Amino acid sequence: MDESALFKLTHGLYVLGAAEKGGRLCGSVVDAVMQVANKPLVIALSCHNNSYTKSVIEQSGVFSLSVLCKNVAPFVVANFGFQSSRNVNKWDNVDYELKDGLPYLKQNLAEIRAKVLQRIVYDSNTLFLAEVIDSRNTDCGEPLTYNNYRDYFKNDVIKSFNDYKQQKEKEKEMAENTEKKWVCTVCEYVYDGDVPFEELPDDYVCPVCGVGKDMFEQR
Ligand code: FE
Repeated sequence: MDESALFKLTHGLYVLGAAEKGGRLCGSVVDAVMQVANKPLVIALSCHNNSYTKSVIEQSGVFSLSVLCKNVAPFVVANFGFQSSRNVNKWDNVDYELKDGLPYLKQNLAEIRAKVLQRIVYDSNTLFLAEVIDSRNTDCGEPLTYNNYRDYFKNDVIKSFNDYKQQKEKEKEMAENTEKKWVCTVCEYVYDGDVPFEELPDDYVCPVCGVGKDMFEQR
């Protein structure tokens, strides 16, 4: 059997959205979505079983889809595809709109809201059959296909994710450094020497007002 034969089945890329009971939003990138009936209007959606968004949809029974266009920022795909909603609020990193409690990308080609009718669980994936209860066609361009992603988009997506991670690390480092600032409570002098404040000799005095180490506090 040649599984690459399945690559010849065309499908798009979509950002899936769902909301936890308390309102916290989650989401992921999915490629396996298609219309499977006209009456009622039913779509099929397949999610990996380890997807956090999948587990939220099992609870809430509704989800949103934003259809991605060819000119979508690579980071949107990286943001929703390369990290888990378990530990990141992915929607905080993009422009989105909340409609009836579900999130949609502001820049999308079309929006679909669907209510789960049936669920089929396989070893690797869960298939949802869901009725479309609202939809909007924004017609802003061409849909991005999974083949586009594989052919030319993937490298940009990976690069954007690496840039994002580096930026996050830098922010974390800066936050840690700011936490470690020692400030003179008398004159507000901020210690910025190379030697960690804790390792300064006991007779260190504030270079501005002359008080001792015990008058400094961490802020
Ligand atoms: Fe001082």
